[in-house]
Amino acid sequence: MPDTSALTAVHSFIAGRWIPPGGEARIIQSAITGAPLYRAGSDAPDAAAILGWATDKGGPALRAMTFHDRARMVKALALWLKEHRQQLYDLSFDTGATQKDHLIDVDGGIGTMLVFASKGRREMPAGQVYIDGAAEQISRTGTFMGQHIAVPLQGVAVQINAFNFPVWGMLEKLAPALIAGVPSVVKPATATSYVTEACIRLILQSGLLPEGAVQLITGGTGDMLDHLGGQDVVSFTGSAKTALKLRSNPRLLAGATRFTAEQDSLNASVLGTDAGPGTPEFDLFVKEVHREMTVKAGQKCTAIRRVMVPERHVEAVISALSGRLATTTVGDPRLDTTGMGALVSQEQKSDVLSKCTQLGKEAERVFGDPESFSVEGENLQKGAFLPPMLFYCTAPDDAAHLHDTEAFGPVATVMGYRNTAHAARLLNRGKGSLVASVFTGDPEVAREITLASAAFHGRLYFNNRASMAEATGHGAPLPHMIHGGPGRAGGGEELGGVRGVLHYMQRTAIQGSPDIISGITGQWMPGATEDQSKPHPFTRPFGDLAPGDTLTAGPRRITTEDIETFAHFTGDMFYAHMDETTAAANPFFPGRVAHGYLLLSFAAGMFVHPDPGPVLANTGLDSLRFRAPVSPGDEISVTLTVKAKTPRTGDYGEVRWHVKLTNADDATVAEYDLLTMNAV
Ligand code: NDP
Repeated sequence: MPDTSALTAVHSFIAGRWIPPGGEARIIQSAITGAPLYRAGSDAPDAAAILGWATDKGGPALRAMTFHDRARMVKALALWLKEHRQQLYDLSFDTGATQKDHLIDVDGGIGTMLVFASKGRREMPAGQVYIDGAAEQISRTGTFMGQHIAVPLQGVAVQINAFNFPVWGMLEKLAPALIAGVPSVVKPATATSYVTEACIRLILQSGLLPEGAVQLITGGTGDMLDHLGGQDVVSFTGSAKTALKLRSNPRLLAGATRFTAEQDSLNASVLGTDAGPGTPEFDLFVKEVHREMTVKAGQKCTAIRRVMVPERHVEAVISALSGRLATTTVGDPRLDTTGMGALVSQEQKSDVLSKCTQLGKEAERVFGDPESFSVEGENLQKGAFLPPMLFYCTAPDDAAHLHDTEAFGPVATVMGYRNTAHAARLLNRGKGSLVASVFTGDPEVAREITLASAAFHGRLYFNNRASMAEATGHGAPLPHMIHGGPGRAGGGEELGGVRGVLHYMQRTAIQGSPDIISGITGQWMPGATEDQSKPHPFTRPFGDLAPGDTLTAGPRRITTEDIETFAHFTGDMFYAHMDETTAAANPFFPGRVAHGYLLLSFAAGMFVHPDPGPVLANTGLDSLRFRAPVSPGDEISVTLTVKAKTPRTGDYGEVRWHVKLTNADDATVAEYDLLTMNAV
């Protein structure tokens, strides 16, 4: 047994304390020199202490905050990490990653937090209850209504991550869990856990998170999953084998614990039938496949493993790709000249080589030789380096390994297809992937592939000359868009903006009177009490307004002269406003009717308070519906009610007003939400 005491210990952070590794040491070597650097432990962590700390401390503290409070906290944390990211870059070289790879992992993780923070403030309420969709009218007169809401789960989010993105892999799960209001227990893959540990240290040093909001387990999880229940979530990223083992845990099954998995998949890229050599799409395709093979030495869950090409272009693609791969310098990731670093470990390298042996039974290696390639840099003989390797399979319909064996390294296989339907069939042979990309300028090709293959993919990425300058890349999971895929890819879903936050929340249908529902959501709804006792709402600052505050104004009689004036002033002389006979022939109108926009203008004329005051600007109008025509001689009145308030900055906030126009019979003529920015 070698003496491991001199190696840097990778700690866990449990129940407010840093715990050194215990049990049999797990040694972590540098991916580039092979030198032993760190030691993690193998002791089972104290599950009761972890879960108790999270649910007693972290959960209540997070749930006491609003979505906006938590989003602001996530933003501050992201900016703090950005300031200190050099520490993470410095450590990450030993995982085999280049500086470009660090940008994906570290900066990509920070960027993901920032997007979540922004969406949390823009798309979620400034309260503690998320309103999911519109109210449902489930009674005849509206005294009993339905509304879906979501609230944070009261357990923990156990996040088990893969080795390839020690920072992004954690932050992309931590950000939505924090915004949801659920404490996290992070379990990084041991091979790169020292980078995650450093990131957690930074997070704790920031002092921005409440106690108990985040804990770290390095080494093993012990029996922790056996302690989870229906308020907990397990989000797993890693191999299909481990996912199956963990999701089969009887306790998780018995407690219906949410389990989401994002696991290895056979992602593919298709060169469209329209995109031959000499087209921008062909060049883009070759560039993208090259990038996906070499970034992170191909250790990316989204990397392209299967390269599908019209049969007549196979030779041209292999030649162009080989030419590009030949320019990639493999070597010490710390060197600026290095294009591709090392795999994470010798074990990973052996795994990739054994998968290549399997692929070799069905495909010929046409570029890259693991027995003969050069590595730039000093003292790298024990590093986990491999060259990029390209295979070519002549009979992809008959192949099996090709569609189900993932070599998680710089490896891809080219195969020819006959027509778009054939390409889609080959895509689907992967039995479910995170992403497929298609390089085509032809919307018909895009549509055919979508109809035939979208059900097998979490994401479809199309690129061509029109989008190439701004396209984000096949391999980049974006915080705005969902990440995950069906079947072989794990059947899970992460990210996707607020969708990603909702994975950590419970959706509940609430039913009751409008006042009860408004009281729960903090948002006024039609049918709830209107308070008309206060001064004009445009004269009162943001802080003084309350949902339900209402102003009624009118009536105003609409005349033929009003309609004529509006028509000639704006140029809108649509016949239904101008000509009694043709208007009457229109099935929607009794005869000549007022312009809808004229009614909106008159509504503003009735409810606006003219003096300078707290209303700074009218910023929009949502959900406008014209419900009944207004004829010359009709009278209209308006009701303006504060529906919701959203603080924006320290100086002003957004007020959402419900506006209803009625006629002399009290029938609704028009209804909409008006948005204004108001001084606090
Ligand atoms: P694993 O499935 O072995 O490990 C993933 C995570 O699960 C790690 O944190 C690991 O911890 C943990 N884990 C493993 N066994 C258990 C257990 N019994 N209980 C609790 N946690 C456990 O994946 P690797 O990271 O080693 O990668 C292996 C393969 O997974 C790759 O070769 C690739 O095919 C695939 N992969 C897929 C990714 C994707 O995003 N789709 C990303 C990365 C890998 P520990 O490291 O301590 O064992």
